[in-house]
Amino acid sequence: MRATPRYDVAVIGGGIVGIATAHALCERLRGSLVVLEAEAKLAAHQSGHNSGVIHSGLYYKPGSLKARNCVEGRDLMYRLCEEHGVPHERCGKLVVATQPAELPALDELERRGRANGLDGMRRLGPEQICELEPHVAGIAGLHVPQTGIVDYPRVIAVLAGLVRSAGGEFLLDARVERVRRAGGEIVIETHRGPVACRALVNCAGLRSDRVAELCGVQPGLQIVPFRGEYYELRPERRGLIRNLVYPVPDPSFPFLGVHFTRMIHGGVEAGPNAVLAWKREGYRHRDVSLRDLVAMATYGGFWRMAAKYWVTGMGEMYRSLSKRAFVAALRRLVPDLREDDIERGGAGVRAQAVEPSGLLVDDFRIVEAEGMVHVLNAPSPGATASISIGRTIADIAARRFGFGRDG
Ligand SMILES: Cc1cc2nc3c(=O)[nH]c(=O)nc-3n(C[C@H](O)[C@H](O)[C@H](O)COP(=O)(O)OP(=O)(O)OC[C@H]3O[C@@H](n4cnc5c(N)ncnc54)[C@H](O)[C@@H]3O)c2cc1C
Repeated sequence: MRATPRYDVAVIGGGIVGIATAHALCERLRGSLVVLEAEAKLAAHQSGHNSGVIHSGLYYKPGSLKARNCVEGRDLMYRLCEEHGVPHERCGKLVVATQPAELPALDELERRGRANGLDGMRRLGPEQICELEPHVAGIAGLHVPQTGIVDYPRVIAVLAGLVRSAGGEFLLDARVERVRRAGGEIVIETHRGPVACRALVNCAGLRSDRVAELCGVQPGLQIVPFRGEYYELRPERRGLIRNLVYPVPDPSFPFLGVHFTRMIHGGVEAGPNAVLAWKREGYRHRDVSLRDLVAMATYGGFWRMAAKYWVTGMGEMYRSLSKRAFVAALRRLVPDLREDDIERGGAGVRAQAVEPSGLLVDDFRIVEAEGMVHVLNAPSPGATASISIGRTIADIAARRFGFGRDG
């Protein structure tokens, strides 16, 4: 019988947060490391299905984990791209208010942006909006120069390469199914057999709550999957958008509202919306998981969330089913847009943590337990912030697990 492979640290989840964490741990640790990924390839879920934006740090409450890790992670992401030749562009973005009722929220964004150190941000009037984006109409705008676009799959390939060169290993097709403690070790049972480690980090994204439970940790929240669907501008209409154009978001909702994003390899995406998915990895309307449905239906937090957001949720669902309604939302930003200017694109599913009170957890949530760190909420700007989140976890690991190079 093959001996159980042993590592100092196991990272569960081969998305951008898990891989960036593995990279930071390799830089800090003296020991061995493995990344356990359920799928046959890395970044199969959120990290491989996002908008490709390097966020500036505009939206987040000053002092929050999101604000700190986004601002630091953004600069680290640009540096990594420059050092490793990853395609990216610091193209800036425009947030546009289209009605007077949105102006207080735009003021608040500007205040948060300044508090989060966004130098060079400019408040614009209707004519200045048109100079930057000739097809966009708005009564006021905010231009943020720090925002950019990037090829995240290339970022992930670079980070994974750095982990391998530092001696870290990846085990694919290795879904974690059980975790137990035995003789001072943690034994992780995967599809591909057991792996033993001294410490583990849970970066399982859409399943991070379940992995925490497998580890004997009560997460105190449940992941609810929200699908984000995209349309794409037809090639002959891409001239409608020069860079990134966003609406003023609803401050009570953690999603940014449908927007236009120029992609790093060409093309312009419109979206994503935010519709409840019936499966954690539910990329299509017809994807349904009985287990996930039962988990939602028996969770009080889900119903309390539904009671709070049902009007917004119904609107999102209607826009998901009706292209005309989706276009109407986009036409508030670009009045020239016609229904046949866009065609269906892809979709991603966000892992959004919901508390028992029904609150959508806004900030990143990282929970420590004996020999473990659990990343329980890392939605957008999680890709931008990933290198910084990884460093934060490596600091915790060096302090708690005591096998850091300097620990
Ligand atoms: C539609 C959409 C648009 C977004 N746009 C942006 C953007 O423009 N900019 C930005 O910064 N952020 C964006 N985000 C957010 C960003 O993509 C996420 O914050 C980030 O990808 C989270 O990474 P992760 O590694 O935590 O999760 P994931 O990428 O989901 O990785 C988790 C991994 O864990 C694995 N896993 C799960 N269960 C197990 C198990 N039991 N055993 C082993 N492995 C397991 C999964 O297979 C998966 O590969 C967007 C997200 C979505 C969905």
